[in-house]
Amino acid sequence: MDLSYSSEAEAFRETVAKWLEANWPLSESEKEGLSFEEQCAVFRKRATEAGYLNRSIPRQYGGSEQEPDVITAQVIREEFSKKWAPMEVRGIGTMMLVPTLLERGEQWMKDKFVEKTVNGEITWCQGYSEPGSGSDLASLKTRGELVDGEWVINGQKIWTTNAVEADYMFILVRTEPDAPKHAGISYLLIDMKQPGIEVRPLKQMTGTAEFNEVFFTDAKTPEDWIVGKRGEGWLVSRTTLKHERNSIGATEQTDMLFNRLVKLAKETKLDGKPAIENADIRDRLGQLEGYILAHKYSGFRQLTADMKGEDPGIIRLMTKLSSTEIGHKVAKIALDLLGDDGMFSAGNHRMGGGLTGSQPWIGHYMMSLGIAIAGGTANIQRNVIAERGLGLPRDAAADQSKGASAGGKA
Ligand SMILES: Cc1cc2nc3c(=O)[nH]c(=O)nc-3n(C[C@H](O)[C@H](O)[C@H](O)COP(=O)(O)OP(=O)(O)OC[C@H]3O[C@@H](n4cnc5c(N)ncnc54)[C@H](O)[C@@H]3O)c2cc1C
Repeated sequence: MDLSYSSEAEAFRETVAKWLEANWPLSESEKEGLSFEEQCAVFRKRATEAGYLNRSIPRQYGGSEQEPDVITAQVIREEFSKKWAPMEVRGIGTMMLVPTLLERGEQWMKDKFVEKTVNGEITWCQGYSEPGSGSDLASLKTRGELVDGEWVINGQKIWTTNAVEADYMFILVRTEPDAPKHAGISYLLIDMKQPGIEVRPLKQMTGTAEFNEVFFTDAKTPEDWIVGKRGEGWLVSRTTLKHERNSIGATEQTDMLFNRLVKLAKETKLDGKPAIENADIRDRLGQLEGYILAHKYSGFRQLTADMKGEDPGIIRLMTKLSSTEIGHKVAKIALDLLGDDGMFSAGNHRMGGGLTGSQPWIGHYMMSLGIAIAGGTANIQRNVIAERGLGLPRDAAADQSKGASAGGKA
């Protein structure tokens, strides 16, 4: 396997690096009077015009509509990561719903929602999980009934990230109660700001409330706000989940995190010397770098398969799992380095509660625990890798009903 980039890719890398040098951060005069978010918005617009961001989004929806080219995209991600330059607006809407609509939505849905979502003008939340229906998602009970040209929704969702702020939700509801469980689900879009929806924040041990319970009592959405056909929501939800996992599994993020950890190990003192000189820390960092390289090279294998239009098979299943495990290990070493100081967080919204300091690591640590559950738990992911990737026999305890292999979020 040749792991080097072609000379064209390296030349392109230089072009991107030069462009970034000139464009990020914004110049002092451009920055004046702008919040950081506004600076990012200015930069994103420019980077999209230059063809670096929103590459898979058609121009009519605010993207740069570039030819799909996985190597070019990878080089851009790597160079932007090195410079800490903003990538696309990150959010449930951009990462999950937009690709789903582009792949499976009606034209009017693309016109109405895609550009505004890409620009961050409207935000979304994901209404999948219910009490008792997480891993076994297909057992979900929230009902959608068609009454006088409208879907009327009754039931409850849980762990809904961003539900308080979100303008809209994409939601899985049971519309065909008599059909087998996977065949009875539809994928609807729904306006969150309506009397039939009550959002109750779930307070976490960190003091903040990122998740919510969402209760639907005769909530309504128009008949045509359905993605895919009635009863085929399960199929549509697989498209969304594929994009959720890809975004969690990206290899440059683990690289960035590791580089930060190495910097911390150089800056932190242990027995009066930089921690990076300590044999135990070096050993742990070395081991971790091994994992990270394996993860990165698996990413290259996925890229190679994608380039050839082949199915990367087990590799795609592995990246989400390995990136969450690496994220956890990185944060754990950082906290060990920081000792008690690790409890103080750099205005990190996840820590809340007044513990302010200069380090982001406790937030990363807490988040690494959550990310191992979001989008399908690590246990379920291991089952999927074992069964679908390695061809091992099915987990004896798993639900035997069709398609529920290794849990529904899988
Ligand atoms: C950070 C975060 C963000 C989230 N955001 C959203 C969101 O926006 N919208 C949304 O709909 N949901 C969201 N979720 C919910 C998430 O999808 C579920 O938590 C997840 O699918 C697991 O479901 P559960 O919590 O019901 O756990 P359960 O399914 O009850 O699982 C409990 C434990 O049992 C294990 N287990 C269950 N079945 C099996 C099996 N067959 N084989 C082996 N082990 C098994 C699991 O691995 C887990 O360890 C979020 C979760 C987190 C942590």
